[in-house]
Amino acid sequence: MIITDTHTHLYSEAFDEDRDEVINRALKQGVSRFFIPAIDSTYTEVMFQLEKDFPKHVFLMMGLHPTHVKENFREELNHVEEMLAKRKFYAVGEIGIDLYWDKSTLNIQKEAFKYQIQLAKKYNLPIVIHCREAFNEIFEVLESEKSDNLFGIFHCFTGTLEQAEQAISYNMKLGIGGVATFKNGKIDQFLNQIDLKHVVLETDAPYLSPVPYRGKRNESAYIIKVLEKLSGIYNVSQENIAEITTNNSKTIFKI
Ligand SMILES: [Zn+2]
Repeated sequence: MIITDTHTHLYSEAFDEDRDEVINRALKQGVSRFFIPAIDSTYTEVMFQLEKDFPKHVFLMMGLHPTHVKENFREELNHVEEMLAKRKFYAVGEIGIDLYWDKSTLNIQKEAFKYQIQLAKKYNLPIVIHCREAFNEIFEVLESEKSDNLFGIFHCFTGTLEQAEQAISYNMKLGIGGVATFKNGKIDQFLNQIDLKHVVLETDAPYLSPVPYRGKRNESAYIIKVLEKLSGIYNVSQENIAEITTNNSKTIFKI
């Protein structure tokens, strides 16, 4: 069984003490493909180190996270652009809009999101979207940028069935993680109405641990709990869920 974690911040300080053990625990469970979203330029070096340490398993993205869109965002976008020009990345992410932490930066968040979508199109890369309390704003940008070469993942999808269908209409797959296991997570109620071909698995480690680890540090091995949950929701074996979602990740990331 090959399980793909399409969103894991393995370079995070949260793993500084035991990163190798964390990765080995995941590998033992069959979680052998890790897609690594960027946050800002301060993490670029540690991401490269992670790739160097686990070259067969780690696939890097490049991008500026919406909560890190600050006064210096143009410099940060230059860094993203330079890196994309310089070497291979598998997606532009994570990018998007977050109105939970800071509404005052909406305009520059939108600008950064749009700009990075254009970079993704230029390099024919998928985008990985971070959306928090910002569905309308995100859909507005996607509508204005939609095209055949705009595609990717709506990471940590937490919306309604209608919003799921809308995301899919923009060539996005839904990144499903720990929230699907929460009692109040809601998406488990309608997920079986979404074809599995639109679904990929993720942890968002070290955040958003699935039940029964909710509130603790998350790690990629815990994706098994998401797999179990989806197996129940779809009434499909865990092996099949792993295979379908890994194939979906291959379609998106082209590896
Ligand atoms: Zn993330």
